[in-house]
Amino acid sequence: MDKPTNSEIDYRISIKKPVWLRRRLPTGPDYERVRGLISQGRLHTVCQEAKCPNQFECFSARTATFLILGSKCTRRCGFCAIDGGPGEPPDPEEPARVAAAAQRMNLRYVVVTSVTRDDLPDGGAGLFAETIRRIRRLSTDMLIEVLIPDFQGDPQALEVVLQAGPHVLNHNIETVPRLYATVRPEAVYERSLALLSRVSAFKTPIPAKSGLMLGLGETSREVSATLRDIHATGCKILTLGQYLQPSKRHLPVKRFLTPEEFDRWREEALEIGFAEVVSGPFVRSSYHAKELYQALAD
Ligand code: SF4
Repeated sequence: MDKPTNSEIDYRISIKKPVWLRRRLPTGPDYERVRGLISQGRLHTVCQEAKCPNQFECFSARTATFLILGSKCTRRCGFCAIDGGPGEPPDPEEPARVAAAAQRMNLRYVVVTSVTRDDLPDGGAGLFAETIRRIRRLSTDMLIEVLIPDFQGDPQALEVVLQAGPHVLNHNIETVPRLYATVRPEAVYERSLALLSRVSAFKTPIPAKSGLMLGLGETSREVSATLRDIHATGCKILTLGQYLQPSKRHLPVKRFLTPEEFDRWREEALEIGFAEVVSGPFVRSSYHAKELYQALAD
């Protein structure tokens, strides 16, 4: 029987969220203040775009994740809420705006990420590097993590970002190789592993970080093998979280893992040799990012 195309899969099939995943989205004066500062800067944060349930906790911990290079992605990952479409021309003023907003928000830890811009010669690497430099110019003690796309495997583009000196370089593997065709069809598992290896081999030690979403239909054996592959690249920091279906147009959740299962995966990842692991139903790429980095640096 032929594999159904994406349009034939009945995405309306989804399963009810278990109690441990029911959390109200944040409100309150502090949250509104931060939201105001972000919109003043004409900026996008993944926190808001992805309706992340951890916003309040992260903003209160003086951490936020900025999305640069526009709000339209040139790829169509089956799990991602970000809109697809032709990318807007990169805004050369965006790095300065991100740096100014981070300063106004009095952030201690800034994560800079982007949509994937396969339409740009350097995939947007230059704008990532300029954003890092601008933040550093405004504050020498602000910690900077970049969560980058794969730049289509271009080592020069990666080098441009590494040369700018982020404190952490994150690139998510997202899922197990068997599911790439439906979960992230334009990505290549081995290419993403190679990127993490290049980070770990870079002349200046910059910790590599990566993450997986669970609940998309992967088997435990596949998760264990993928954890070993990621660790073999020299990656030090790992995040493991529950996949949540952003809308009926996105891949269905195949299973909700229990908090106990996430604890077991954390144990296994630490046994495999990762230095820092955060694992749980609400964990996202930037969750407790500052704490993980500081624990690694201690
Ligand atoms: S490449 Fe990134 S931003 Fe683009 S659709 Fe995939 S996950 Fe979303």
